[in-house]
Amino acid sequence: MPKARDKSKLFCSFCRKTAKEVPSLIAGPGVHICGDCVKTCNSIIAGLPSDGFGGGEQLGDEKLLDNLERSQAAFEASRAVLQQQIDTLRSRDVSWQKIGDALGVSRQAAWERFG
Ligand SMILES: [Zn+2]
Repeated sequence: MPKARDKSKLFCSFCRKTAKEVPSLIAGPGVHICGDCVKTCNSIIAGLPSDGFGGGEQLGDEKLLDNLERSQAAFEASRAVLQQQIDTLRSRDVSWQKIGDALGVSRQAAWERFG
């Protein structure tokens, strides 16, 4: 039986709020999004004015430093999804050339990063 994930460490990949800070958190492949950020997405899709997801410019140093670990976790989760997709392609004998073309890098660069 797979080990249950520790939900206390989950956070919205867009606004960096933790699962405890938001009423709901929706999981995607390597990312999560909270209800507030879904509302922001809906506004953007509808062409309505939006404040966006709040980049680091508005945050103080301490809050930004607090967010670094979460940002790194989001980065590593995304990289794990990318690696998994590439591993699947390689298991199907898709060439490094095609993978590099899809990533916009050389065959050699794709192999060095993901091989
Ligand atoms: Zn959010």
